[in-house]
Amino acid sequence: MGTSSSSSMSPSSTLPYHTPAEIDEIHERLLTTFRAGTTQPLPYRRHQLLQLARLVQDNATALEDAVFKDLGKPRQEAAVAELGNVLNCCLYDADHLEEWTKPEKPQVAAWRSDWDTTVYRVPKGLVLVIGPWNYPYILTLGPFMGAIAAGCTCVVKGSELAPATAQLLADLFPKYLDPHAYAFVNGAVPETTHLLERRWDHIMFTGSSKTGRVIAAAAAKHVTPVTLELGGKSPVVIADDADIEIAAKRVLYGKLQNSGQLCVSPDHVYVPRNKQDAFIAALLKMYKTFWPNGPFHEGSRWGNIVNPAQHARLRSLLNRTKGEVVIGGYFDGDKRIAPTIVKNVKLDDALMEDELFGPILPIIAVDNLEEAIHLIGTQPAPLVIYAFTSDEVVKEKLLELTRSGTLCMNDTVTHLAVYEMPFGGQGDSGHGTWNSKYTFDAFTHLRSYVDIPLALEPKLSDRYPPYTDEKYHAMTATLRTKIPDA
Ligand code: NAD
Repeated sequence: MGTSSSSSMSPSSTLPYHTPAEIDEIHERLLTTFRAGTTQPLPYRRHQLLQLARLVQDNATALEDAVFKDLGKPRQEAAVAELGNVLNCCLYDADHLEEWTKPEKPQVAAWRSDWDTTVYRVPKGLVLVIGPWNYPYILTLGPFMGAIAAGCTCVVKGSELAPATAQLLADLFPKYLDPHAYAFVNGAVPETTHLLERRWDHIMFTGSSKTGRVIAAAAAKHVTPVTLELGGKSPVVIADDADIEIAAKRVLYGKLQNSGQLCVSPDHVYVPRNKQDAFIAALLKMYKTFWPNGPFHEGSRWGNIVNPAQHARLRSLLNRTKGEVVIGGYFDGDKRIAPTIVKNVKLDDALMEDELFGPILPIIAVDNLEEAIHLIGTQPAPLVIYAFTSDEVVKEKLLELTRSGTLCMNDTVTHLAVYEMPFGGQGDSGHGTWNSKYTFDAFTHLRSYVDIPLALEPKLSDRYPPYTDEKYHAMTATLRTKIPDA
């Protein structure tokens, strides 16, 4: 596997793109492998999962270097949030394969108890994973390991906006993984469009809501099921009883991961009007603790905005906001933006137009919890709602009266590490879930198997013509069942 000399290059980097002919060849090769049943035996799946873990472990430094080259991502963030998670999940998945794939014997009605009724968990087939640039390891290899666990063959498409990581993964894949079953493909929109013209048995896409709609439309042509992991504006609610210092520390920590370029980044904060100043003072205190010499100091390890276009977008938002910048608001060239806090932001502000995806945190003052819940309800359902409170009534209200992929209390971002729980969006933030077992489920078809013994023929006689009143009466007992009053 690999790219031939005829591959085109991305305009902005030296990343070789796969040609349409190469993509077609890979598709054919992986389809043939799936049809041969190669990827189905559990020892094969286990071996490939452990190989993926080795790929990460053996090359951890090179992988950290690559994402530093692409995004200036601090080594610690790459190691913990991405590589450590991938490695852990590979081992966890490998250890749970037998349990997850066990055929299930459902409890059936008494009159069917002599039948063999079994639900098998079978691989969907040849699947496609399309990943974004911001977390280029966990968001490509995470879904990919679910495809391996499920017994699928799989093409992974990396992001052209993280070219060093995409190139490294394309190089490492065939060294560790079965090239007849798995391939890492590189390209931009034309190459992804070509991939989408092929038939896949499932597509798992992580990226923007705008592109998600393109993917869903392309998948619909082949009636292909999709998992859409999209973005959105994830709000934070500071309740009346919140510990302001801890809330400020945890919000700032989450907001500034990958310089705010994270799908579950706290996008904006609803704070009680009488607590706004105290909350901002606490944010400022934390800010000084996190970056005692300022974010652009050499030792601060503050990452880049992915490209000049995104940098310009964020600068334009800051130019247009009618809120008051209380921290940050400055940049160095077109690479970085200082962590920025803006207060007294209104819902019709430029900062509330779209997912921010950068280190800008608007603060919206509200009269009470009910107003925050109301305002959240006027926005598209986000990936996550964060809330800081110890009040069980407040937690209950948020559970009942809001919609989001996840509801996370008293912290930000870290819920992603709970790979034993599903992760996914709702409404505009996407549909379907992934994370370890849930990724396995997404790439698995529940295949019902029924075997009705020939010896039961006498019991089935009433179903056959000629139909008579007696047979009708015998076959329609259900219609005369007594329905309980309540
Ligand atoms: P993107 O939608 O621009 O790109 C994602 C992938 O789609 C890339 O591989 C890209 O090559 C491809 N692509 C882009 N435009 C396409 C088109 N017109 N046709 C076909 N393919 C196309 O997203 P991004 O900028 O890489 O990532 C940022 C977005 O991803 C943010 O909105 C963020 O919230 C979201 N995101 C979501 C999650 C999640 O788990 N829900 C995780 C990370 C990022």
